[in-house]
Amino acid sequence: MTSQLLQTPVEYLKGVGPQRGEALRKELGIATYGDLLVHFPFRYIDRTRFYKIRELNDDLAAVQVIGRVIAKELVGEKRTKRLVAQIRDDTGVLELVWFQGIRWADKMLTPGAVFIVFGKPATFNGKLSMAHPELELYQPSVKKTGNMTLQPVYSSTEKLKQLSLDTRGIQRLQAALLEPALNEIHETLPAYLMREHRLISRRNAFLQIHFPESPAHLLAAQQRLKFEELFFIQLRLLRNKLLHSRKFRGPVFRHVGGKFNTFYHDKLPFELTGAQKRVLKEIRLDTQRGVQMNRLLQGDVGSGKTAVALMCMLLAVDNGCQACLMAPTEILAKQHASSLMDMTGGDLVTIRLLTGSTSRKERRILHQQLESGEIDILVGTHALIEDTVQFKNLGLVVIDEQHRFGVEQRARLWRKNTLPPHVLVMTATPIPRTLAMTLYGDLDVSVIDELPVGRKPIKTIHLYESQRLRMFGFMKQEIALGRQIYVVYPLIRESEKLDLLHLEAGIEAISRTFPLPEYRISIVHGQMPVKDKDFEMQRFVKGETQIMVATTVIEVGVNVPNASVMIIENAERFGLSQLHQLRGRVGRGAEQSYCILMSGNKLSREARIRLETMVRTSDGFEIAEIDLQLRGPGDIEGTQQSGTLDLKIADLAHDQELLAAARNTVTRILDADPELADPDNLLLKAFFSRMENGISWNKIS
Ligand code: ADP
Ligand code: MG
Repeated sequence: MTSQLLQTPVEYLKGVGPQRGEALRKELGIATYGDLLVHFPFRYIDRTRFYKIRELNDDLAAVQVIGRVIAKELVGEKRTKRLVAQIRDDTGVLELVWFQGIRWADKMLTPGAVFIVFGKPATFNGKLSMAHPELELYQPSVKKTGNMTLQPVYSSTEKLKQLSLDTRGIQRLQAALLEPALNEIHETLPAYLMREHRLISRRNAFLQIHFPESPAHLLAAQQRLKFEELFFIQLRLLRNKLLHSRKFRGPVFRHVGGKFNTFYHDKLPFELTGAQKRVLKEIRLDTQRGVQMNRLLQGDVGSGKTAVALMCMLLAVDNGCQACLMAPTEILAKQHASSLMDMTGGDLVTIRLLTGSTSRKERRILHQQLESGEIDILVGTHALIEDTVQFKNLGLVVIDEQHRFGVEQRARLWRKNTLPPHVLVMTATPIPRTLAMTLYGDLDVSVIDELPVGRKPIKTIHLYESQRLRMFGFMKQEIALGRQIYVVYPLIRESEKLDLLHLEAGIEAISRTFPLPEYRISIVHGQMPVKDKDFEMQRFVKGETQIMVATTVIEVGVNVPNASVMIIENAERFGLSQLHQLRGRVGRGAEQSYCILMSGNKLSREARIRLETMVRTSDGFEIAEIDLQLRGPGDIEGTQQSGTLDLKIADLAHDQELLAAARNTVTRILDADPELADPDNLLLKAFFSRMENGISWNKIS
């Protein structure tokens, strides 16, 4: 089944050879013919039509227009020297600019001549222009329709370009390859699926993706390859889940016992929200099947995930098991431990804390108590997963803020028991459904999509730098009311120096505006030793300081109910999910809370959308969805390390419908034929035997 040809090292292809072969491998990871074949164009240049000048805008890729040269002029001196020309069509005037090749362009551009101009429109100094466009004298007698196509653009690198493997060079290689390779590209989808989803054949799709005959052909090819990619990801995930549920027996939480009931009836100080009840029920059902649970619990900050987690842990204890809760930082672990102790009132269950700073002596005692079963619930940091930590009978692991924990770490937790414990992963970073499906397709997902009643929505305001005094005034007013305030600065690696300058200037301005002894300030940033950081944090937590100036270290989880104002400096530089996380630090107490987004006066289009979104909504899922649209999935927190997102062609931001279709189809197929034994599903079964041989889908013919 696996094609010999497609396994051939790329250097043997006509036009490659050892040197380019080596470069292709190093620069783009293209080692074989098969790899080259799935090096798809990342965009296409539309040469199928001419644009009118009035139609041009910033968002367009490279396009072609026809226009008459009406002016040209050399401007600037030495380094700023450039040739500026103007062309006109019947809808407007477009400026063309050359910084290099000035002599050549000057000679070409005879005033009055008509050119086909090809380039990317961009706004410069408030005017639309094209820099270094291609020029071709327009000859009305020559019909241009024949060779007008969608020109593929392939990603390349400087190194490859030096070896003449720019986009055109790569296109030449594709042409050389496709001829012999086409016959080796075999169908991977059963005929009934192709009919049902109106997909073109795989072979044809590969041809059209590299050499599209028309926009319609290209679309069909993309549709086909995207569907295939998403389909097989889902098939793998859902089949794994199926096998997993057969293979891994888990502890059975059969009954709701005394601890759970005592807590629920006597200690829980509030009524659970409908969403909390629903999720508890989902987990209840899942933990009595005798199958190990892997569940993702999504819910905005403050939606009451921890309360749900606690009740699940009590359920575990009621069924003779221990539970543990793992947090990403020491300070969070401490907060969790003390809030769990508060909520359970001390005598209901035995809760202990284990972190990196637990002394060796304490640790020894903890280890003993864990192994004897004296401890019911252990709260801690990464220290929990060390192999020396052994439980008597660990039944449930709760992980807070999942994206800080890798798959490998999760696996280590499993090994702590003969029956692998149930795993509940809590995250306050809502993940759009599509992304969750792809990333965590093998997890079950529960969502708390309702905030406890009586929460006052956080008021979010966007202020410009020129309104800073207003902000200081507001801060004073809130501090006078006894509230505490966060002031957060971005600290982004690429511009760390600049950020630090901002931070220092900010601290100075705040210290001047809020002088001692009336005001006290905590300062926390990433460069500080952990001890100092903790100390400063604690001062704020205890209410000894009123203002906390910080870089994004406070992003995760600290809970200070009295802090009711979040000020985000340079807010235009934060991503949406970060802004949302930061805002979630306030609004935890009874008081009206505020989030103030400070920004410079000039904003990019994207930054404006981000800030507007924050002001308009506090719905984490809506925000996550917009974030995905703006940034694409590659940048969404937590996705980089997962590996499942190494998509060759599908795009989770734009192919959501296709993903849903693929997933539904897979679900249907597995429901009807879990073993894929039906002759119609032969090709799908073959997919798994190829996987077992370690060959990924795209390297297969
Ligand atoms: P999360 O972990 O999702 O951020 P928590 O479980 O920490 O949320 O809950 C945030 C706050 O809301 C806590 O003070 C908690 O006691 C409280 N809380 C949780 N559930 C409810 C509820 N149903 N009604 C009122 N308050 C609640
Ligand atoms: Mg929480």
